[in-house]
Amino acid sequence: MFSKVLIANRGEIAVRIIAACRDLGLKTVAVFSEADRDAVHVQVADEAVCIGPPDPSQSYLNIPNIISAAEVTGADAIHPGYGFLAENADFAEICESCHIKFIGPTAEALRAMGDKARARELAIKARVPVIPGSRSALKDAKEALKLAKKIGYPVVLKAAAGGGGRGMRIVHHERDLERAFRTAHNEAQRAFGSGELYLEKYLLEPRHVEVQILADEHGRVISCYERECSVQRRHQKIIEEAPCAFISESTRRKLSQAAIKLARAVRYRNAGTVEFLVDKEENFYFIEMNTRIQVEHPVTEWVTGIDIVREQIRIASGERLSIGQKAVAVRGHAIECRINAEDPDTMMPSSGLITSCYFPTFYGCRVDTALRAPGEVPPYYDSLIAKIITWGETRQEAIQRMIRALEMTRIRGIKTNIPLHLAILRDARFQKGLIHTQYLEEFIRQRAFRRVKLAAS
Ligand code: ADP
Repeated sequence: MFSKVLIANRGEIAVRIIAACRDLGLKTVAVFSEADRDAVHVQVADEAVCIGPPDPSQSYLNIPNIISAAEVTGADAIHPGYGFLAENADFAEICESCHIKFIGPTAEALRAMGDKARARELAIKARVPVIPGSRSALKDAKEALKLAKKIGYPVVLKAAAGGGGRGMRIVHHERDLERAFRTAHNEAQRAFGSGELYLEKYLLEPRHVEVQILADEHGRVISCYERECSVQRRHQKIIEEAPCAFISESTRRKLSQAAIKLARAVRYRNAGTVEFLVDKEENFYFIEMNTRIQVEHPVTEWVTGIDIVREQIRIASGERLSIGQKAVAVRGHAIECRINAEDPDTMMPSSGLITSCYFPTFYGCRVDTALRAPGEVPPYYDSLIAKIITWGETRQEAIQRMIRALEMTRIRGIKTNIPLHLAILRDARFQKGLIHTQYLEEFIRQRAFRRVKLAAS
């Protein structure tokens, strides 16, 4: 086992990883930018090193400074969390060449799955179902036109290097495809440094269901079953649940098997998530694999009792998975609400001074956060400031606990999306589970419409 782990991240996930390290008796090193000098993750770590100015490109993405911090403090492993350098294959390689263990998959797996067109090709090879579309990256707009004609509109053009809900363009008519291709290509080139695109049929009202995988370095792969993440805004998840309460046992098993098959095909190591879209007939299709710890991992932890971050560290140190597939059981239902520092109406980020804050704690309620008052939400980073997770014997009980938790939460000084979460949780369609990836946008449109009508009457 390692002796000291450097956490190359900030905010709630850094605190979460520090907790897992402490659990395993490991020393921790936090890194921080000048904007995070007083941040919680800095205070709860054993040591902390400043790695640069607030701009992430000069601090949390600054590979030489992070490696130096590990060397100076004698850390023998680095946990990258999510975002920042988590899926950067070069970083993983540099860590290994400096004899620092990267807590995550191999650089090879990061490269293969980081290119979404290639990941799609690998899934096809592994006989995992994919959405009808191009086999891999498209040569030109002409190829896209031909293919779209064959599979029918709407289609979606996706950037091979895209992610985080960015780099996707939906095309409804043949006449718009050529122009969309050019724009998407140029945008992808600018945003991700690669203009490569691939094409898929755009599914109407699918569910997003993803499978949590754990794979050790001895060839053992297990599934911790699925999460339902259909409540999304602009292709970004905001509420996640485990398990997905709306698929049959047989689909659940098949999803897990498909995810394990893909993980095995790419000789995957550590924690990973295989994402699928599921249609109304419960046909499912691979969309991508995320090669890191996911924001929404706590819902799986709660229903399975497996500490996923702890397993990640154990696996990276060469230990065997502490649990076999047969022993993975799902109990009850867990829900996570992502609390973002943003205006709930416009989605514009809201940063500044937190004057007071309170999160409730009670049976069935977990809060992952690095927020405190007085404290600062700096404008430079992701708007996620807390994750509230509730558990219940049933989905209904988990929802009721979440409503209670959100009603009792107090965050003053900045705007958050808590009012939006409460509105969703009280919506009859959400409560009945009539959700799909386009549900939230529809819900917001209808709500805005009702408000306008109310104001006019
Ligand atoms: P990212 O890497 O940006 O997260 P994904 O490929 O995982 O992109 O897709 C994110 C979300 O976009 C999905 O959860 C789903 O809501 C939507 N999406 C992606 N591909 C399709 C598709 N072919 N049809 C319908 N919706 C899609």
